[in-house]
Amino acid sequence: MGILDEDVARVREQTDIVAVISQYTSLKRVGQRWSGLCPFHAEKSPSFSVNATDGLYHCFGCKASGDAITFVREIEHLDFPGAVEYLAGKAGIALRYTDAEEGEGRKRRGRLLDLADRAADWYHERLRTSPDAAAARRYLRSRGFDAEEVTRYRLGWAPDGWDLLTRALRAPQADMEAVGLGFVNRAGRPQDFFRSRILFPITDERGRVIGFGGRKLPDADGPKYQNSRDNELYNKSKALYGLSSAKADVVAHNEVVICEGYTDVIGFDRAGVPRAVATCGTALTEDHVKVLKRFTRRLVLAYDADEAGQSAAERVYAWEQAHEVQVSVVALPPGADPDELAREDPDALQRAVAEARPFLEFRVDRVLRAADLSTPEGRTRAAEAALEVVAEHPNDLVRDQYVMDLADRCRIDASRLRVRLEEVRRAPRRPPEDRRPRPEPDGPAPVGSSTLPPLPEGVEREAVRLRVHHPDLAAAFLEPAMFTHPTARAALEALDTHASPAEAIEESPRPVAELLARLAVETHEADPVDVLARLASELGRRTMADMEAEARASQDPLAYAEAISWLKVTLDHLRRPNVEVESVEQLLAFVRDREPHDERRG
Ligand code: ZN
Repeated sequence: MGILDEDVARVREQTDIVAVISQYTSLKRVGQRWSGLCPFHAEKSPSFSVNATDGLYHCFGCKASGDAITFVREIEHLDFPGAVEYLAGKAGIALRYTDAEEGEGRKRRGRLLDLADRAADWYHERLRTSPDAAAARRYLRSRGFDAEEVTRYRLGWAPDGWDLLTRALRAPQADMEAVGLGFVNRAGRPQDFFRSRILFPITDERGRVIGFGGRKLPDADGPKYQNSRDNELYNKSKALYGLSSAKADVVAHNEVVICEGYTDVIGFDRAGVPRAVATCGTALTEDHVKVLKRFTRRLVLAYDADEAGQSAAERVYAWEQAHEVQVSVVALPPGADPDELAREDPDALQRAVAEARPFLEFRVDRVLRAADLSTPEGRTRAAEAALEVVAEHPNDLVRDQYVMDLADRCRIDASRLRVRLEEVRRAPRRPPEDRRPRPEPDGPAPVGSSTLPPLPEGVEREAVRLRVHHPDLAAAFLEPAMFTHPTARAALEALDTHASPAEAIEESPRPVAELLARLAVETHEADPVDVLARLASELGRRTMADMEAEARASQDPLAYAEAISWLKVTLDHLRRPNVEVESVEQLLAFVRDREPHDERRG
């Protein structure tokens, strides 16, 4: 990361430090200097002073001081080159880099960011003014959005034309593809990636648009959410929706609330908790943790209670140790998501965040709440189940605290529980309930995963191979739930939760690691779309069998007729040569929408 020294000097010279700082606090001229309330600490009388001539600031209260670059670094939480680029952007200075190639890369990135930003503007204008966005505006109003919020969150509307955005922006097709806004369809014509969707721009931590989350209108076809696929700007395992606007409050409150949906972030903001971010169509990853820990070490999960309770405990504890973060969980009422709760009872949402509990406590409570503590047998079973959860925590002192608490609540002598806990810790693990592969670096492989059977040749194996060799393409389509073989599912989950196949291999239990290592060296020759089509066909056939069974058992079998015949037609399409990737997408969307799980996310 080398910016030429003379360019850094130019940025310093040409930056108006008073203008920069005035964006964060209001400054008044006092003789030769400017003075105001310090933006870095809370105060009632001004002790923050700016020397415009030398381009320096100093706070007599908290001793913060420096030049414009330091100021931007501190207040925007940027590294040095990031701060210089930020100021160069404002001053209209084109930076040069010590390494020509890096300079080219930066230039290209700047151009792509500019394109994504223009797209966000175009979509936004479309939502605000275009007649074809009327249904989208009605829908947003029904979800409590007013015009001010639509502007603040820069919401947009992608119209239902084939290539309206592409034609409006007049950008090179290669650039449209590089930022995931367009592609060339099978007829060889440029096509817009997002169509008929309300768009939530996803920004990087500096507020620059890097991707979009697209939500369909309630009665439209297709999956409920469609997000940008990973591309030159956007990486879903690092992107966090809302981070740029949340970060000030995250730092001020020293905690970040992590939720799952764009509208959940907005709900938290409305309920007076403007420090929420959302992962974008993926579970929390280690990369997310690395991004967030620069702002705070306190991570508060606000997922649906079931999902939060089932988050892979080893991963959470491993992050807590490796990154020195503390993970706690907000106990939301069953079935409620933050977006709904914000509308119905904002105070309850605020309270729930204030009462977030450590991850382990949350899990132990869930076990005990589900138990019958009124009989000796029930209390014993509850204690044993809770010990399994406690046993996973890596710190013996923490474990012991929970043992004492359990002893109280289950009325069992603590010393006996301690003996039992050690037995549980020594015993081989039972298969995990959530089927996630459990890395166990310093012990024997857990029983549950070493019994995973080998994955035979067939379309599922081909699909996992595709996922290894074409991660960008395949990750957008493939989900663990689309596979029937447990090893294929475990492999998919391992790939989804690690940054690279190499990492997934290193941290997975043996059968999965061996499979991935093999697939990685096998060549992948099949046509990707063909593999996806065959996998989708199998899934479609299983879904059809389910639906036919449901229809037979139902009072109203005709209610299924339309969906079943649609599915038949789509399965026919998938059998044809040169199958269209859209047919695959439509079928997957159809199957996904049948799962009640997906409908909850707003
Ligand atoms: Zn200060």
